[in-house]
Amino acid sequence: MTEKADLQSVLDRAAAGGRISEEEALDLYRDAPLHALGAAADAIRRRRYAGTEHIATYIIERNINYTNVCVTACKFCAFYAAPKDTKKGWTRDLDDILRRCAETVELGGTQVMFQGGHHPDFGVEYYEEHFSAIKKNFPQLVIHSLGASEVEHMARISKVSAKEAIQRIHAAGLDSFAGAGAELLPARPRKAIAPLKESGERWLEIMEIAHELGVESTSTMLMGTGETNAERIEHLRMIRDLQDRTGGFRAFIPYTYQPENNHLKGRTQASIFEYIRMIAISRIFLDNVAHIQGSWLTTGKEAGQLTLHYGADDLGSVMLEENVVSSAGAKHRNNLRDMIDMIRTADRVPAQRATTYEHLVVHDDPANDPTDDRVASHISSTAIEGGTAHPELKLLASN
Ligand code: SF4
Repeated sequence: MTEKADLQSVLDRAAAGGRISEEEALDLYRDAPLHALGAAADAIRRRRYAGTEHIATYIIERNINYTNVCVTACKFCAFYAAPKDTKKGWTRDLDDILRRCAETVELGGTQVMFQGGHHPDFGVEYYEEHFSAIKKNFPQLVIHSLGASEVEHMARISKVSAKEAIQRIHAAGLDSFAGAGAELLPARPRKAIAPLKESGERWLEIMEIAHELGVESTSTMLMGTGETNAERIEHLRMIRDLQDRTGGFRAFIPYTYQPENNHLKGRTQASIFEYIRMIAISRIFLDNVAHIQGSWLTTGKEAGQLTLHYGADDLGSVMLEENVVSSAGAKHRNNLRDMIDMIRTADRVPAQRATTYEHLVVHDDPANDPTDDRVASHISSTAIEGGTAHPELKLLASN
């Protein structure tokens, strides 16, 4: 264990651009004073983005939840329905999905995130059909979707290799993977919360195949389901090791477990304090990952703002629809004006970004801010149950 007196020298080395070990990261995460941890993380962020360090980014996107039917039954998940549960299970048809894409374009969204259960009938062909239809109708939309878990599942259903599955859905229109399903990569906590999901090693193997094929991704971590601090840092190390080989992770996005409506009993949600420390140690340890995203959806707006001072450079999205973490209790929501205000009052200049993080609109003059709030975040399971667009979204889209 690093002596307390040495923690500052480890932080100084990291802030100056040096790499720290997994053991040092664990010591810092557990014991470094919060302010010192944040100062080092912020110094690293400022150096990486010298010249644009005053900017924090967001994207406008829509999550499209295509089905909640899932054979994988993760214990933390409040979203899925078992295949035999025909009362709870639903699947959107292609027309419905295309209508949601049209609304996304109308409201200025640039990205869709296809997100759903591991449906027992959905192989590679399902995604080929849907992605090619989206691209044919909305070539301007970026399809940033799915992850290694979906690839593993669809390849099994279609009896093809993961490599072939990725090649085919990429050819059909998938632009990049959202990196979902990473949860916790170390074996013990992963088995405890998602026993039927592929192993952490397999998740990384599939991401490596994707990166080698030129399909980049983001990476995520679900924290607060009972994992140890050492397991959290091990997760970061597994991401960093792969990134050293491929460079294909654009961003790292930790988010916190939401405790409602699922099968994990007696878990204590990660505190905001733990979350802020995780953002900082991610920026410090993941010296090879460009972007660190702070989550306001699961931790709240103030915590999201704080992350911008602890190493994060991005606050994720103004979401036109989200149903997965909100099923588990996430209640925060925003619209475009909220997002701009949130970033500006955190003392950063807001900028709308593309999926690949280029700045599309820099809001450097409040006098030019959007004056309407048409781009609203809708977090509503009623949008799902009815199988139609949220009524308010329809209204907004028709304005
Ligand atoms: S997290 Fe995904 S894979 Fe796991 S049960 Fe929920 S929908 Fe299925």
